[in-house]
Amino acid sequence: MLAMSSEQALKDEIVSRCSTAIEANKLLLTQLDQAIGDGDHGVNMSRGFAALRKAYDEDRKQEFPALCQSLGMALVMNVGGASGPLFGSMVAGFGKAAARFPQTRGEAATIFSAGIDAVRKRGKSEAGAKTMLDVLVPVRDALSAEGVSLGEIRDCAANALAKTRDMMATKGRSAFLGERSVGHVDPGAQSSYLLINAVCDAVEQHNER
Ligand code: ADP
Ligand code: MG
Repeated sequence: MLAMSSEQALKDEIVSRCSTAIEANKLLLTQLDQAIGDGDHGVNMSRGFAALRKAYDEDRKQEFPALCQSLGMALVMNVGGASGPLFGSMVAGFGKAAARFPQTRGEAATIFSAGIDAVRKRGKSEAGAKTMLDVLVPVRDALSAEGVSLGEIRDCAANALAKTRDMMATKGRSAFLGERSVGHVDPGAQSSYLLINAVCDAVEQHNER
């Protein structure tokens, strides 16, 4: 069981690293979305994660379900595009799955899985359509294995991201491009990768203390 102060420090670190990673990669996300979408993903995510950070500053002491609800709502209201409601339902979904911040790998796996189910439901989509789910679903599967390391989760996310390049989009805006969507990494998969990596960084730093 994490001591309360160290649990708070880990949450602070996760939020800080996630928003920093999105801000630092705003241009990359824009460029990826310019190739196979409408070019707004970087701006959308940057605006959304600035709002998420603000909501977190106000609500960081809230119970886990209420906190996730508030952060999810900040994303829905501020990211916009297709990805806002999707990332927003994912974060809100974490909070619906458990009464407390995860204390073990198993609890984290359950909560993450519930968030991914919310994305699948909201997006009416599954992995294989060249979307964020092509990173989120493999990572969910990796996290469900006993004894998985942070390094394995990072590798899983990186490999899954790279695979989106050769996929043809069948969901979202890039599906209009058909075959022309092949040859580019999916923007939402890229942001999912950045967020997963940021969470791994936060957990790693936390474990070293
Ligand atoms: P928009 O496409 O409305 O401009 P964004 O550019 O912010 O919104 O987000 C695009 C990303 O959203 C895509 O790269 C993809 O990963 C994700 N996405 C779009 N539609 C779906 C869907 N139905 N299911 C899962 N992810 C989706
Ligand atoms: Mg877009």
